[in-house]
Amino acid sequence: MHFVSAKGILSPKGGFNVYRGCTHGCIYCDSRSECYNINHAFEDIEVKQNAPELMEDALRRKRTKCMISTGAMCDPYLHCERELKITRRCLEVAEKYGFGVCLLTKSDLILRDMDIIQKINSNTKFVAQMTLTTFDEELCRFVEPNVCTTRRRYEVLKEFQHEHIPTVVWLTPLLPFINDTVENVKGILDYCIDAGVKGVLTFDGGGMTLRKGDREYYYAALDRRFPNLRKKYEETYGDAYELPSPNAEQLFSLIETQCESHGIMYKPHDIFSYLNEFPSTSQQLSLDI
Ligand code: SF4
Repeated sequence: MHFVSAKGILSPKGGFNVYRGCTHGCIYCDSRSECYNINHAFEDIEVKQNAPELMEDALRRKRTKCMISTGAMCDPYLHCERELKITRRCLEVAEKYGFGVCLLTKSDLILRDMDIIQKINSNTKFVAQMTLTTFDEELCRFVEPNVCTTRRRYEVLKEFQHEHIPTVVWLTPLLPFINDTVENVKGILDYCIDAGVKGVLTFDGGGMTLRKGDREYYYAALDRRFPNLRKKYEETYGDAYELPSPNAEQLFSLIETQCESHGIMYKPHDIFSYLNEFPSTSQQLSLDI
C-alpha cells in the first residue's frame, strides 16, 4: 500500500472512498476497468491518509445534513483498515456532525465499528449494505476469494438485525452460467428474509458488466476453473459491456415474488430513494420515543 494526501474526500452527491484499489480479489470487479485510470497495481492500495481531516472540513461547512455513502468504488473495510482505522475515523466525524451514513461492504470487519454505527443510527440513520452473490460457500471462495464468504456475511446481517440497524443486500452481479441459478438466488433470498433486510437490490434479474481491464482479469479466472467457459462467453456476448443472464426473467420473477410476500423492497428506485432519505427531525424524535 502507499499513502497520499488527497485534495478532497466528499463528492457533490455525498460519496466518499478513503482507499483506491482493493484486496478482496472478486473475479468480476468492475473497479479494475481501465476507464477509472488507476495508475498503480490494483492491490497496491492507495490510502488517503488525510481523509478524516478532509471529512471534518467538508461536513463542518455543509449547511444541510444529509446521508453520505461509501463502498461504491472499493470496499471501506479492506484488510489494511484493520490497522489504519481510516474508515472508522470518518464514521466518527459523521457522527460528530450529525450526518447519516450508507456503507456497502463484503467484510465482517464492519462489526468492529458497531459502537460508532449504533450512535449514528440512534442520532440519524445508518444503513449497512452487504453484497451477496454466491450461496455455495466453495464457489463463493472462488468468486470472491479474499473476503469472508456469504454465510459469514449473513451472520453479519443478523448482528445488524439484532441491533435494529437497517440493512440492504446487493444481489449482484449474477454471473452468467455460474451463479445465475434459481438455487443460488433462492438460497440468498432465504438469508435475506431471515435477516429481515429492508431491500434486495438487483438489476433486472441478473447479469454482469465487463469492460477493458475487468474483462481480462475475469476471463483469466474462468480459465483456471472452467476451461471452456470463456469460449461460451465470447460466443454469447462478444465484447458487449452488458452481459444479461439468460435466466434473468425467471430469476427476477423469483426475486419479485419472494420480496413482495415478505415486504422487502426490490425496485432499485425505491431502494435508492430510501438510502438517500435523511430522516427529518420529527422522524428522529419518533425513533427516540
Ligand atoms: S470488494 Fe468490490 S472493489 Fe473490492 S474486489 Fe470486490 S468488487 Fe472489486
